Amino acid sequence: MPRLRAPFSSFLLLYVLCHALALWIDRGAAKPLSYAFLSATPLLAGVACFLRSRRRDAAAGNWLALALAMLLWAGGMFAGMWQDVIQQNSNVAPGLSMLLYVLYGVPLTFILASPGKDAWWLRLIDGVLAAVLGYLFFVQTFSFATMHGADAQGVVNLRLMFDIENIYIAAFALIRLAATGGGESRMFFKALSWYACVYLAVAAFNNHFDADVDFGTPVDLLIDLPFLLLFGLACSWHKAARPAVVPARLVWAVRAGSPLLLPASLLAVSAAILHGEPRHAVAGFAIAALGYGLRSILAQVGAFEERAQLNELALHDPLTGLANRRQFEASLRRAWQRVRRRDDGLALLLIDVDHFKQVNDSLGHQAGDRCLRAVAGALSACLNRGGDSLARYGGEEFVAILPVATPESARMMGEAMRAAVAALRMPAPEAETRLTVSIGVGFVQQAGDQDASLLAVADAALYRAKHAGRNRVELGML
Ligand code: GH3
Ligand code: MG
Ligand code: MG
Repeated sequence: MPRLRAPFSSFLLLYVLCHALALWIDRGAAKPLSYAFLSATPLLAGVACFLRSRRRDAAAGNWLALALAMLLWAGGMFAGMWQDVIQQNSNVAPGLSMLLYVLYGVPLTFILASPGKDAWWLRLIDGVLAAVLGYLFFVQTFSFATMHGADAQGVVNLRLMFDIENIYIAAFALIRLAATGGGESRMFFKALSWYACVYLAVAAFNNHFDADVDFGTPVDLLIDLPFLLLFGLACSWHKAARPAVVPARLVWAVRAGSPLLLPASLLAVSAAILHGEPRHAVAGFAIAALGYGLRSILAQVGAFEERAQLNELALHDPLTGLANRRQFEASLRRAWQRVRRRDDGLALLLIDVDHFKQVNDSLGHQAGDRCLRAVAGALSACLNRGGDSLARYGGEEFVAILPVATPESARMMGEAMRAAVAALRMPAPEAETRLTVSIGVGFVQQAGDQDASLLAVADAALYRAKHAGRNRVELGML
């Protein structure tokens, strides 16, 4: 059971007591009084949901849609009161009121169908489908009801519609709750599930076991319950739902599957009105198919874009924009295969910034980052052949792969890179010195089975360059 804060539980209890007293004290005015209480409860719940949506957290849109659903329900009750008390028409299914009760399901369907994290244009399509669904509900409702009410068969049909609507809302609220791990959204779906299940039970009792009893009896107190419960839950700002462990597959399946709810509902309502309103039904079928198709296409384009961004992140170094170590390793394997096939030469240049620790220590880490970007720019400007590649190997180390090279051309490339960095106008660790790099060149003319050994040769050459005084290029042969 959800636990509510003490002031809210007391308020809710007091409300039900007042409602009961109103029914008991003045039997003559019990009906209008009861209507007033019954219109006020969804309004109270709606205001609480609206205020909750003002927190602008992850569930704000859902709270707002739920507030709209409450407003529609209150409107239904108000329209019922107008017909029953003011117009003295005691038909059990007043048309406008029935329509508002049915429309109350539209914002709820929107909530259940919309996974929330989607882009606005996807939510716009959901919104359009929800609006068409609302219109077809309107068409369907008035196919067996008039503004004055419905005949016996119409009432049976309306009750069937409500049963389906209520079961579907409660079931999907529970599914969404099961697939929401934590945070504000879990709190929202917990509240919605409680509300929808209690509402389902109360509505089933009212429609099937107490169907002919007029308003103004103690049974009305039951109708207060789901709304007061929702009011209390929406007011429980202070509480965060206990996080639940949800299998990732379930989250993805529900996220991918819930957008099907709206077109599926549209198809179902269109099928229901096919006989009486064939044109509307065909339009409903077409809009459901088009809406779902368009939504799928746009969602796929978004997924492709995300995948491209992830690939970019997976293969590139975010600081310098150069290839990262993973991409370098793949490039080296490819270059090595090529060398083996053609017996061409292959050079690998390991480039390490000299005294870089001091750059960081004296100028700060951010200036160090700027230096790394400038060095990366200078190094890549030196590469001018299609097959050459440059990567950030790690920290302040870079690596270049030069296929089809002679030892001499590889050394010349190393020299060009060294000179390009030395020519940079960058702040150096000590005012009078320049930022420099040491480069170890590993060269292989005939590739064997092991490509890692070329890296070891380049590393040994780099070690020699450092020990020979830095700002130099050393060559090693495999
Ligand atoms: P040496 O001439 O022997 O190479 O001296 P060094 O100071 O460059 O020595 P070492 O290679 O050990 O130091 C690397 C430094 O690079 C240590 C680390 O703080 C710095 N570094 C590594 N990655 C980054 C980075 O992404 N940004 C910045 N600003 N500094 C980094
Ligand atoms: Mg280093
Ligand atoms: Mg260094």
